[in-house]
Amino acid sequence: DVRPLIAGNWKMNGTRDALSEIKAMADGILHSDLVDHVDALICPPSTLLYVATAICTDSPLMVGAQDCHQKQSGSHTGDISAEMIADCFGTHVILGHSERRTDHGESDHLVRLKVEAAHEAGLTAIVCVGETANQRDAYETLDVLMRQLMGSIPESATADNTVVAYEPLWAIGTGLTPTTGDIGVAHAFMRDELKRRLGREEGGAMRLLYGGSVKPENALALMSVDNVDGALIGGASLKASEFLAIYSVY
Ligand code: 13P
Repeated sequence: DVRPLIAGNWKMNGTRDALSEIKAMADGILHSDLVDHVDALICPPSTLLYVATAICTDSPLMVGAQDCHQKQSGSHTGDISAEMIADCFGTHVILGHSERRTDHGESDHLVRLKVEAAHEAGLTAIVCVGETANQRDAYETLDVLMRQLMGSIPESATADNTVVAYEPLWAIGTGLTPTTGDIGVAHAFMRDELKRRLGREEGGAMRLLYGGSVKPENALALMSVDNVDGALIGGASLKASEFLAIYSVY
């Protein structure tokens, strides 16, 4: 069976005073009964990356970043590269989050180049896909997922170096979630598509996370859906108590 991953995305939140939350998460994961069965990852802003990995050295809690440039170095003021994330002992990078696709005009093609850069640096890429409210209302969800998976995920992707996160845009930060039935349909579709493109083995073992208003109260129902192999958590990952409560549903 696929080993679940509970991942937190702090987005543009968190200053030094929030490091105590990361410390509490690291301790909580280390002492959890689930530590041999469920992976945990926290993605703070890049300003906290290096100190966060230092805090987590003795814990299985992994630390990742929220974006990287598609090149490994060069004249790209303000950007950070996948190599820099690896150099800070980060293991993962979130790519193609809808907030980056929207705020920074990131295309599927650009996301794919970033995924390739992440792989080259030895990072696991967490590739985000998901439809807008309008696309959902027009019954275009599966078309959007197909297009984003085809465009953003390189042929070289494996179950080890790539994770897919389904995050419907209308569910992010709204308290709304799709029905478990709708999530099941979306995840089964992505599973089939990934198997077709990457082969039964890699596509079958690739982790498919659900993201969008995951909270301690709804986590059990969401994580119980077929082909949901974990969560990508925004708001509820800012507090160690909520992050650990979601982790504990397994
Ligand atoms: P929320 O959990 O705050 O809805 O955010 C989801 C998300 O965008 C995680 O990447």
